[in-house]
Amino acid sequence: MVRPISVTLADRLINLPPYLFEAIDRMKREAVAAGVDLIDVSIGDPDIPTPAHIVKSMKTAVGNPEHHRYPSSVGMLGFRRAVAGWYKTRFGVDIAPENEVVTLIGSKEGIGHLPLAFVNPGDVVLYTSPGYPVYPIGPMFAGGEGYPLPLRPENDFLPDLKSIPADVLKRAKLFFFNYPNNPTAACATKAFYEEVVEFASRHNIIACHDAAYSEIYYDGKKPMSFLEVDGAKEVGIEIHSLSKTYNMTGWRLGFAVGHKDVVGGLAKIKSNIDSGAFQAVQEAGITALGSDDSILLPIRNIYEERRNALADGLKKLGLEFRMPEASFYIWAKVPAGFTSTSFVELLLNKAGIMATPGSGFGEAGEGYVRFALTVTANRMREAAARMASVI
Ligand SMILES: *Cc1c(COP(=O)(O)O)cnc(C)c1O
Repeated sequence: MVRPISVTLADRLINLPPYLFEAIDRMKREAVAAGVDLIDVSIGDPDIPTPAHIVKSMKTAVGNPEHHRYPSSVGMLGFRRAVAGWYKTRFGVDIAPENEVVTLIGSKEGIGHLPLAFVNPGDVVLYTSPGYPVYPIGPMFAGGEGYPLPLRPENDFLPDLKSIPADVLKRAKLFFFNYPNNPTAACATKAFYEEVVEFASRHNIIACHDAAYSEIYYDGKKPMSFLEVDGAKEVGIEIHSLSKTYNMTGWRLGFAVGHKDVVGGLAKIKSNIDSGAFQAVQEAGITALGSDDSILLPIRNIYEERRNALADGLKKLGLEFRMPEASFYIWAKVPAGFTSTSFVELLLNKAGIMATPGSGFGEAGEGYVRFALTVTANRMREAAARMASVI
C-alpha cells in the first residue's frame, strides 16, 4: 500500500478568503434543494443569450481547421484590429493593433495576471473598494500587497487620491479603478480621469482602468473611455470584456489596450502561462465588435425596464440608493439595524431572494447590498413585493 501524501496548500492560498461567489453558490444550492423558488440577483452574469449573429459566426469558425491549432498568446491580428476599430468608432481613440492590444481569456484573467508582470515583493497595488474581488488577489499572488481606496457616497463613489499616505505612494506600482463601477453603479467624470493621469504620471504608477460596463448604460448617457483623456495612454491601460456587453460571460474573451510596455508586460506573462483564446471565439469576437451599436439597444432597454421595476419597489420600501446611470446593479443601503450579511440572510431565508452582501466587495461595502438586474422585470417586481412583506 502506498501511503497517501499529505497535501498542504501554499501560504498564498491558506491566507486567502473564500471567493465571494463560491459561498453564495453554496447558499443558493441549499435554498434550491430545500424547494425555495429562488430569485437570484446575486451574480453579475447576464441571463440574456448572446446575439444570434455572434453565435452563428462561432459555429462557422469552429469548422475551420486553421482555428484548431494553438492561437497566438497576444491574440489574432484580426481580433486586435477589430478592437482598434471599435475603439476608434466608439471612443475616437487611436490604438495600434500591432503593439497596443493584447487579447485576454476574459478580463478577469488579465486583471489577475497583470500584477505578475509589474509587482515585486513589497510593492503596493492601489484599488478602488468596494470592488471586483480579483483586484487585491493578483497583487497578493505576486508577493505584493493591495491597498484599498474606499468609495463613499459623499465623494460620488470616487476614490480620494489625496488621502494615500506618502509611504504607500512610494511603493505603489499599479492602480486598479473601475467605472461604470461594480458594485456601486457609479460613473466617473472626465475630471476624475484627468486627475488619475496626473496622479499616475507624478508618482510613476501604472493606471489600469477596468471598463467592463462601458456599454451597459441608461438614458443615452454614454460612459467615456479612460483613454479619451489626454496622456492616458502614456500612463496606463484599459481592460475590456465582451462578457457584459454582448452577454458572452461563458465564452471568455476580453482585451487590454493602451501603453505598449504595459500591454507587452502582460503579454509576456501570458505567453508563459496560457496560449491565448480559442481562435473561433476570437472570430466571434470580431463579429461582435464589428456589429452596429443598435444591436445593443434592446439589451439596454431590457435592463432599463428591470432597473425601473426594482427601483420603484425599493423606493416604496424606503431603501436608500442612487438610480444607476450605467452597469446592471443597484447598490442600496441596508435598513437600519442590519449588517450587509444579516440583511442578505433575511432576504434569503424569509423572501427567497439571493442578493450579494456589500461587505463581500471589501470593508467599505459594509452596510450595503447589491442587486443584479439579471432576472426579468416581472421577477424584479415579485422580488420587491416579497421584500415588502419581510422588512
Ligand atoms: C464581470 C466583471 C469582470 C470580468 O469579466 P470577464 O471578462 O468575464 O472575466 C471584470 N471586472 C468587473 C468589474 C466585472 O464586473
